[in-house]
Amino acid sequence: MSDDPKTNGTSPEDPFAGFTIDFGGAPSEPSSGGSAAPISFAPLAAAAPSAPVARPAAGGPDDRSAEERDPTRTNVMIIGSGPAGLTAAIYAARANLEPIVLAGAVPGGQLMITSDVENYPGFPDGILGPELMAKFREQAERFGTRVVDVDVDRVDLSERPFRIWARGIEYRADSVIVATGASALWLGLESETRLRGRGVSACATCDGFFFRDKEIAVVGGGDTALEEATYLTRFATKVHLLHRRESFRASKIMVDRAVDNPKIEIHTNTAVEEVLGDAKVQGLRLRDTGTDEVRDVAMEGLFVAIGYRPNTEVFRDWLEVDDKGYLVVHDETGSRIDGVFIAGDVHDHRYRQAVTAAADGCKAAIDAERWLESQGITEASTATAW
Ligand code: NAP
Repeated sequence: MSDDPKTNGTSPEDPFAGFTIDFGGAPSEPSSGGSAAPISFAPLAAAAPSAPVARPAAGGPDDRSAEERDPTRTNVMIIGSGPAGLTAAIYAARANLEPIVLAGAVPGGQLMITSDVENYPGFPDGILGPELMAKFREQAERFGTRVVDVDVDRVDLSERPFRIWARGIEYRADSVIVATGASALWLGLESETRLRGRGVSACATCDGFFFRDKEIAVVGGGDTALEEATYLTRFATKVHLLHRRESFRASKIMVDRAVDNPKIEIHTNTAVEEVLGDAKVQGLRLRDTGTDEVRDVAMEGLFVAIGYRPNTEVFRDWLEVDDKGYLVVHDETGSRIDGVFIAGDVHDHRYRQAVTAAADGCKAAIDAERWLESQGITEASTATAW
């Protein structure tokens, strides 16, 4: 383990700091362990939905045993487990709403494939994305959130309780918070798909270690590409940053950092036409977007960092989407369906930061709490004034 404060005691060989996730799909019990402890889940108590169990008023004592709680019925179903979903869970759980988080088969959101997070307040030395998400999750579970690592297959938001299906189990919820985030985009080349995992990656944190002492490329011109290129200089001998235009979308500080890094070589007006190699990446076919001139260069890896697509598929029949495919919010976190709230990158293509997503999750949970109270389902307990 390194003592480097930048890595919070983790090493490149162990970028996840001992954080492991059980993909068994069973709801968790609140954990009390440290962030480095494996998160394990109790077996699923009941697969079929049963009648809702009366919940205590917010802030009141809860003398039901864990077995008496229906693991498929909740006041607040939170779909997604990035900063928005888990912050919503912390607030909802502390408001005694017994939230269930359907976390996705690959939980934790985009921060799970992010290296150093240097702009999340409270971590002056930075923190690794997966470690930050482990802390979010631990905090949500501490207050009684049940987290299930499954993808949602289908929802029915036509009547209440809302119905949500995931891995063959039907869940019912009085309110829903959609916090499904956005996923990384790919270039769409056949050779990129064929060589994925064989030198092509979209996750520098996950795969950077495998490129020690190799010459590699990162494609993209936004903050993600600049951040990944800088991170990958820890391993690679040289990182070529390939951007299709002259000017960058990334923030100036990130561009300056890359320009100042002797291991990064920036190539503007450069598009990737093909990834070369049979069993592994051996080179790239590049096109000059100004002259259309094509050249082949030797390269041992390619990291694709060209942006994101919002994860809205299961909601498209129910909720509004804008022209970029993001969900549309009304009045801060509301949707066109009463009792369904939206938080984080699934609607936000402007800020897309962990801290703004977390703030959104907080707002959605408070709005859900107020709405549940207005329906006579629970009593609100979070002190807010408006
Ligand atoms: P982005 O800002 O949308 O940038 C995507 C980049 O990829 C653009 O430069 C775009 O080129 C390029 N691109 C898109 N499709 C391409 C294609 N088919 N072929 C080649 N290039 C393509 O996405 P992002 O960098 O992932 O950032 C997303 C958001 O997260 C931003 O708001 C960013 O500020 C934020 N973020 C922040 C941090 C941080 O602060 N630490 C880190 C990462 C991300 P064009 O410019 O020509 O369109």
